Amino acid sequence: MLIFIFGMQATIVGKSISWEFMNFQIIGLIFCAYFLNIKIPYRYFIPIILVYMIFNSSIGYWESWCHAWTLIMSYESFNHIRRMSEGNYRFARYMMVGVTYGGLMWFFVMVKFNLTLATFYEEWFYLIIFEFLLYSYVNMVRRDSKMKMHLLEFANHDALTKAENYAAYTNEIQYEFEACQQNKLHLSMMMFDIDHFKHVNDTYGHLAGDKVLQHVADVAQTIIDANDPKVKFYRTGGEEFNVVFPGYDLESTKDIVDEIFMALNHLPIDINGKKIYISISMGVSSLSAKDIQPNDLYSRVDGNLYHSKNNGRTQITAF
Ligand code: GH3
Ligand code: MG
Ligand code: MG
Repeated sequence: MLIFIFGMQATIVGKSISWEFMNFQIIGLIFCAYFLNIKIPYRYFIPIILVYMIFNSSIGYWESWCHAWTLIMSYESFNHIRRMSEGNYRFARYMMVGVTYGGLMWFFVMVKFNLTLATFYEEWFYLIIFEFLLYSYVNMVRRDSKMKMHLLEFANHDALTKAENYAAYTNEIQYEFEACQQNKLHLSMMMFDIDHFKHVNDTYGHLAGDKVLQHVADVAQTIIDANDPKVKFYRTGGEEFNVVFPGYDLESTKDIVDEIFMALNHLPIDINGKKIYISISMGVSSLSAKDIQPNDLYSRVDGNLYHSKNNGRTQITAF
């Protein structure tokens, strides 16, 4: 920004129109201080402005000193209202600071260069329009990127349980699979499925079934968060959930796997005043040197889950 300002000023230095680019310079300053939130302590401006005034041959004019001081104060005020708004852009505050300091700066320019009052009002008016347009533009871009973030969040999460979904799982497992194989790290996976869940729906209704799924996801996620945030939890199917353990061999998954198993098998879920209990079956396995794609690991975990199901349910199969 400084190079830009000095560059512009260099083309008109010594001429009577040396105030020509004022509005651009103020807008540049606002952009840096307010929208980009660049935190330069205001005292750093003092030597910069001194060099600038020497370069501009204006160090002997009181108007230039007032102008420079107003510039520094406006920068500080923009940073201040930005901090006050906790990172949000507030239109009224922004315009109040921009219009006031812009007017003051133009006032000193008018006095120094003997501009007419009409020119002063005209330039001040242009500045207000610039400030308004800059605000609108930045706000539009920000709204757009917020919406994209929201859509991304939506695309990767399951609306019912708020857990990450199958799409997120396939991306993550591909990444972890490659990273762990390249770096010769362990990688484990656990899958669990609610036993006889159809019976819950048939007995209590689908809304009750949904509530059970939310409870199950909450409990599993809470246990994982309390143990290791690197471990990832997904809802990969209707009542099937998947846990990915980057860096874990089979043995080291045991604590978290057992904790989830115990918690869910003893979880009372309140459905219309009645407490119901569910049980789950699990399959666990780890990355093997023979695996060539993530689905090789997935198939082994799935096979172990089926083993648990076929051997009486409510058990863990891990190998
Ligand atoms: P198993 O012990 O063999 O796993 O038996 P199960 O009844 O749990 O398995 P099955 O595959 O027969 O049934 C799964 C049920 O899960 C059927 C389906 O209606 C239900 N389900 C899947 N997604 C949802 C959901 O989002 N909400 C509700 N309420 N039910 C769901
Ligand atoms: Mg089931
Ligand atoms: Mg199932």
